[in-house]
Formats: sequence, structure tokens, C-alpha cells
Amino acid sequence: MEKFFDLNRLNVKAFAKEGRRLDGHKSLAQFARLAELADTPVETILKDSDQPTQVSWAIQCELVPILGGDSQVWMQLQAEVDLQMQCQRCMAPVNLAVKANATFRFVSDEATAEAEDDESEEDLLVLTAEFNVFELIEDELIMSAPIVPMHVACPTLVPMSAVDEAFEEALEARPNPFAALAKLKNKPN
Ligand SMILES: [Zn+2]
Repeated sequence: MEKFFDLNRLNVKAFAKEGRRLDGHKSLAQFARLAELADTPVETILKDSDQPTQVSWAIQCELVPILGGDSQVWMQLQAEVDLQMQCQRCMAPVNLAVKANATFRFVSDEATAEAEDDESEEDLLVLTAEFNVFELIEDELIMSAPIVPMHVACPTLVPMSAVDEAFEEALEARPNPFAALAKLKNKPN
């Protein structure tokens, strides 16, 4: 039987020993900090729960043997969510696919993490017996979300063009002063 691993409190080392990959998804409403970035309030995500926005992820851990030392624990994380944000150019909602893809190496304590952080390309995390993977997924997606969300090309601003059209129509409907003058001239005395 396959071991069950709880991503809320994952024993990363035990998971790495199994060399397995886990993937899944759950509602954006369960990631409060991430949902805050979206233009859609959590209540709306929950209410329209036919197709609530999903956060999907995949993680894989492995033990990398080190000559003359303890094996290192590495984690590969991918996560994805479609966020509805507010376009900072036209202020209309914009749907953005936010993707995170990161590699982590676990170290034994905070001091080691600090000491090795500068020379490491990968991100360092402190190994704990109960590691919250969902928090990491949320952090990574928040960091991957655009600071200034924008449409690639903003849709036509409907209210503005409606105003323009009304203005054009008003111009056309306005009586032509010259036509009115001509009418006066042709008027029999
Ligand atoms: Zn826009």
C-alpha cells in the first residue's frame, strides 16, 4: 500500500525517500492570501462554486547522495492558477495565468540556510518534520503574480465609445446652418 502524505504537514525527508511525485488541485478560496490578489472576492469564488477557480500543483522530492555526508533533500515545485486581476491601464478585469516553477534544497537549520544562501542558485528551506507545502505553493504563486497586471491589449472601452457614438449622432442630427440659410433665401417674399 502506498504511504499517505499530508501536504499540510509533510515529512519532506520521508517523502523524498519514496521518490514519489504528488499532484492535485483545490479551490483558490482556500488560499486566502493569494485570493486577495484576485479581483474576485473569496465569497464570490465560493458562491459561483460550479467551477471555482482552482490552484493546481505538482511536487517531487528526491534524496541526493553527498560524498562523505548526509544526503541532501531537494524539492521541485510547480503550481498554477488563473487569477482574475484588475488591469492597471483600463481598470477592467483581466484573466492571467500565474505559474510558479521552483527548486528548493532543504538544509538542517536557519543558520545553514543563511550561510549558504548567497552561493546557491536554488532556494533554501529549513527541513522540519512537518512542512506546510500549501503555504509554499501560495508564497510562490504570490511572488509569480504580476505587480502591475495589464491586458496585452486592452479591450475597447465600451462606455467611452458609446459616449463618442452619441456625440456623433448629435452632430449629425444638428440642423445644418447653411441649409437653414438656403431655406430662408428660397422663401418667397
Ligand atoms: Zn486593460
